[in-house]
Amino acid sequence: MVYDLLVIGAGPAGSVCAMHAAKAGLKVLLVDKAKFPRFKSCGGALSKRTHRQLGPKAKLGVNCNADGLVVWSPGLKAADYEEPNCLDLVVRTEWDHKVLMDAADSGAEVLEATMAKTVSKNGDKYKVSLSSGNQVSCRYLVIGDGAGLRSYKKSLGFQQPYDHMARTVCAEIPLDDSIIDETLGTRRKIHIFFGVVPRGYGWLFPKRGHLNVGIGFGNASAPSLTQFEVFDRFVTQLKEKKMVPSDCDFSCRVAHPIPFKKPFEPIGSDSALLIGDAGGFVSPVTGEGLYYGTASGLHAAQAISAQIDGTAQVDLVSDYTSRWMADFGTDMIHSGLWLANFVYRSQKRMELMVRMMIADEKTRRTAARMIMGIASYSEARSRILKRALLSAAKSLSV
Ligand SMILES: Cc1cc2nc3c(=O)[nH]c(=O)nc-3n(C[C@H](O)[C@H](O)[C@H](O)COP(=O)(O)OP(=O)(O)OC[C@H]3O[C@@H](n4cnc5c(N)ncnc54)[C@H](O)[C@@H]3O)c2cc1C
Repeated sequence: MVYDLLVIGAGPAGSVCAMHAAKAGLKVLLVDKAKFPRFKSCGGALSKRTHRQLGPKAKLGVNCNADGLVVWSPGLKAADYEEPNCLDLVVRTEWDHKVLMDAADSGAEVLEATMAKTVSKNGDKYKVSLSSGNQVSCRYLVIGDGAGLRSYKKSLGFQQPYDHMARTVCAEIPLDDSIIDETLGTRRKIHIFFGVVPRGYGWLFPKRGHLNVGIGFGNASAPSLTQFEVFDRFVTQLKEKKMVPSDCDFSCRVAHPIPFKKPFEPIGSDSALLIGDAGGFVSPVTGEGLYYGTASGLHAAQAISAQIDGTAQVDLVSDYTSRWMADFGTDMIHSGLWLANFVYRSQKRMELMVRMMIADEKTRRTAARMIMGIASYSEARSRILKRALLSAAKSLSV
């Protein structure tokens, strides 16, 4: 049988792509090497705008809402912002399974515990060999297999430059709600710590029944310590500040790469497209990938449907690119990268930024809403710049 679309990788990006393509009437096969539910290293902060592209089970499958965030400066000054129900928090092991179920419910055929091994082009079809020993044919191929340049991606001409990537270490530990309430309060707020690493940050995300701690920094600015040493030092600081119970065991921590600059080039070739982390769809400011990855999955599904039903005016890769550029790409690449370079320039700059947030209510609100994916980067950039002189002057008293 020849599928209209084969999606490699049933993470959020791949599952959302498969769901929208199946809903549009395409014959879709979604394969993943893992058996779900499976673990994925992640903070699990999910901006509300992501709901636009999710199915019903994923929308209902969030762990809890956050009511704001606290941004800590390198000198440990805290900018505290409250806004009820401004962000969702998910536990990826459970949530990714829900996103996958939405794809299956929409009619996509799903093969779990099945790895894609090689891809070759045969006329106008792709042939994908699977770990089961089977070979499947498809007219269109979407690769949503996460960060990592696997050989079949290289064979199709795709790249993943070293300086576009970041390193992370993260641990999510089950913890009694009463202990989390006692340590961090009953309202769930996410905590971001600047200054833990040069170009990046540490985080502490309290959820219902789970505590998520991590660090991430760009490859291009790697510190002298290893990523595990940076993580362990951060956990020690959190314990000293009594923000984490002293007997919490974070030895389950894992390292994972993440794109942290802008979408890769090329983003597609012929009838094959990259989505999610495989395409570098992660914010260069916050590392938010769930929104961008699932949005890229939606756009890939729509661009492929347009080729199949004959409504596309241009070739697949151009159509896909103009869809995600118009939706979020221009904002992410232009204003997002500008903001990332502005904020992460130095420890001094991060200190100033947080002090400006503390001193000036409007700057605090704008920056907090940008971090939580409520305000766009271009909106945040112009608002922060407009108040820069005033808030910098006010910050002298912090
Ligand atoms: C430590 C850390 C913290 C993060 N925190 C946040 C956060 O708080 N909020 C946020 O929005 N983003 C966050 N991100 C980013 C987010 O996790 C990713 O952007 C997101 O997981 C991308 O989804 P995806 O579907 O592209 O890839 P993935 O979630 O990585 O899924 C890829 C899938 O492909 C499968 N696969 C791989 N190779 C093959 C193969 N050969 N054949 C078949 N299947 C294959 C894998 O098993 C996997 O299921 C974080 C990332 C990290 C590393």
